[in-house]
This record gives sequence, C-alpha cells and structure tokens, in this order.
Amino acid sequence: MSMIKTKIIATLGPASANEQTITSLIDNGSDLFRLNFSHGTFENHKQMLDLINQVRDRHPHTVAVIGDLCGPKIRTSNIEPDGCEIHADQEITILNNNETGTAEKFGTNYENFVRDVKVGQRILIDDGQLALQVIKQQGEQIVCRVIVGGLLHSHKGINLPDTALNIPSITEHDWRCVDWAIENQLDYLALSFVRTADEIQKLKDYVRKADSDIQVIAKIEKPEAVNNLDDIARVSDALLVARGDLGVEMDLAQVPLIQKQITALGRKLGKPVIVATQMLQSMIESATPTRAEVNDVANAIMDFADTLMLSGETAVGKYPIQAVKTIRQIAQVTEAYLDKSDVPRPKIHTAQELALTAAMARSVAQITDDTDAKLVAVWSQTGSSARLLSKARIDVPILALSSDLRTCRQMALHYGVISRCVAIPEGITELADLVDQMAMQRKWVDSGDQIVIVAGRPLGAAGTTNAIMVHTVTQ
Ligand code: PGA
Ligand code: MN
Repeated sequence: MSMIKTKIIATLGPASANEQTITSLIDNGSDLFRLNFSHGTFENHKQMLDLINQVRDRHPHTVAVIGDLCGPKIRTSNIEPDGCEIHADQEITILNNNETGTAEKFGTNYENFVRDVKVGQRILIDDGQLALQVIKQQGEQIVCRVIVGGLLHSHKGINLPDTALNIPSITEHDWRCVDWAIENQLDYLALSFVRTADEIQKLKDYVRKADSDIQVIAKIEKPEAVNNLDDIARVSDALLVARGDLGVEMDLAQVPLIQKQITALGRKLGKPVIVATQMLQSMIESATPTRAEVNDVANAIMDFADTLMLSGETAVGKYPIQAVKTIRQIAQVTEAYLDKSDVPRPKIHTAQELALTAAMARSVAQITDDTDAKLVAVWSQTGSSARLLSKARIDVPILALSSDLRTCRQMALHYGVISRCVAIPEGITELADLVDQMAMQRKWVDSGDQIVIVAGRPLGAAGTTNAIMVHTVTQ
C-alpha cells in the first residue's frame, strides 16, 4: 500500500466494533480512532479500547486514540415512539427535565433549559433538521411553535443559536470522562463546543495536575469560538473544524470560509488542523461517494488540513473500510499535486522556546526542495520538532522517533509523519545507523540516497533540537 501524508481519524461505533474491521481500518490508512463520549457507557468504551489495544499492540502502524468530550451539548430526552412526526405550526412543549417525551412534550439533558431560552428564540434539533420557536414560558416549561417539522428522535443534538447559555463548558459528565481517559491512557481529548481559551486551559491544567500528558483538541463549532480563535489556537494542541454543529450555529454559507480561516491559522501557528463531518456522508449508505464529496476531501487537503475525520461513515455506515480507502485514493492524487506546486511556505509563529525548531523546520524544507533527499528523520522526544516539520509541508516523508510511546502515538495526528517508538540511541551516528536500517528495510530509500537527519544533544532530552545533518545511506 502506498503511503499518504494526510492523516485519517475513524470514529468507532457499531459498524466498526470488531477486531477485523479495526485491523482493516488501520491496514487501509486510519491513523487515529475516536471514541465518542456522547454515546455509550464507560463499559462500552472500555470494550472498544480493549479491541483497539489488541490490534495496535501488534500492528506496525502507530495508532492514537481520541476521547471526544460532549461539552455543553444539549440533547433531546428519550422520545416514544422514537422518530415520531411533528408538523409545522403545531405547538410542542419542552420540559425542564429529562423525562421520556412524545410528539407533544419532551425534555432535554440540561436542567436549566427552560430558564436560559427566551421567548422568540430559535431551537434547532438534529443538525437543524427541525426548527422550533419559543412562544411562551410557563413556569417549568416552555411552549414552542414548530417552524420546520419532521421526525423527532431520542438523544438528538439541540442547538440554540440565539441563546446565551449558562451551562458550564466542561460538565460533570465530561469531568468523569476526562478521569476515565487519563486512567485508560488515551492520547488525545477533544473538547466540544469550546467558547474561550480559558476552557481549554482549565482542561490542560487539570490533565497536567493528574500527571498525564494527554493532549487537547479544540472543536470549533460555536460563533464564540470563531471570535476567539487566535487565543484558543494558542493554548490548544490541535484544532478541529466541526462543520456539523458549526453549520447549525452559524450561517451555513460561512462554513467553507471558517474552514479556510482555521486551516490558515493552524499553518501560521504550527498547530495541526482536523477537518470533520460529512466528508463522505453518502458512503454511510452507498459504496461510492458523490462527486461533491470527492471535491470537498481534495479541497480540505489543498487548504492544508493535516487530518480528515470520518464520523458516521465508519461508526454506523455500511462501508467503513471503503470510506477510508476513498480518502486514501483522493489524498494520493491531491498530495502529488501539492508536492509539485509552488505554494509559498508561511513563517511559523510559535511560542518563543520553539522559535529555533521552527526555523530549522523551514531550513529542512528548503534542503529537501533543493536536493534529492528521500526522507527526513527526526528524533522528537516530545513531538514538537515532528509537529513543526510536518507544518513546514516537506515534500518527502518524515520519520519521527521517540522513546516515549505516548509521544509516538500523538504524532499519528501530524501530516506526513510516520512515528516509531525506539530506545534512545547513544549519539547521532548511532541514530543515523538506525534510520538507515529502518528506511532500507521498509524500502523508503536505497543505498546512495540522501536522508536529512534532525536531532539534538543529548538525544532524548526535551527542547534540544539543534542539528541538521545530511547523510548518505550506505549499506
Ligand atoms: P460531533 O462534532 O460529531 O461530535 O458533533 C463534529 C461536528 O459538530 O461537526
Ligand atoms: Mn459537534
């Protein structure tokens, strides 16, 4: 299988909850798996994680696991019968509890719902497929008029684009999920419905206090987050363009521009960007994608997204493996085009302590442009050097090594990076020997090819990257 540089996240669910499908997803190019805390119990997540661990422990490809925190996501209560029809112009009551509902009355999982929502405001359900408007407040319930009718289902997302919510950004349930993720050694936590940088900082502080090095992804899906994008990006380890909720919370026509704004900011700050939701939506039901979806995937790669995420396609779809293969085919063609094109590389504005590493990444990109080097190999103990080399969009693959398994797994998110966990070599000469051996074995290079090696002294210490060596492979 030929390698691609674009990384793929597959969301796991009933369609992929078995060893064979997980293995096949990795074989076909999945680099990360998402466990969605919005659905299922800890017992379900543990079973899924055990499956992933069984497979990844013996698979040569390095795979990471993301836990996706629901954040302040409001959902409908149980509805009976599930999927009952509500009609435009009918009235429907929303209760301040989570009792089982009907087409006349239902509740939500947010205990202050009725207090926060005001008369005249819109209530959008199920990715905006249903729309209500509040007409009156009656004590512990509100009466709404249905503006756009359809089928009302249990546990569907509710968006309140007109309402200032008093709900905390990280709920009690989220904190329990954070503890679970730390305890079970997940590699990333994604926080949904982020509004400010402080929320991400709070999560990062909590994780650090618990002595975990789990990294944090900010899911950009609210107008407040778009307004605070720069601050959020600076404190987050990665950004995710959550086009599903973004398209409900904001004018749908703004979403393509916001995707470009976020990917551009990720390039500038040297932070990875994930583009998510409906990438290949039609493949939930169909073995082939629509032409528009193929265009969308290619364009996300041309926007310099690092990672593409599949949601329903791999979690509940009929063709999970085919969806991953489809991304790989599109990525192969699009990356080959990008590697040949002359897009200027932006200067990366990192935190001061990484300024030298960022400058080295740019220099390495220049070296690979001007020479025939076939591979860049980097000793990246904490992953920062690999991340900045990835963001420099070097034309050749980046082999990133670390002795820290968590770091190696986290590097699965970075465009163009192949990571491997190995013991710390004694010095740069031993590192070069190891790289030659690995690269020859996997047929990335032949004897006589050049490899650019990036490292520091002592190897294995954080923040020491200061050497670029151009090395000729000898047998
Ligand atoms: P979700 O986030 O799949 O958790 O809703 C992604 C999105 O909203 O696009
Ligand atoms: Mn979302």
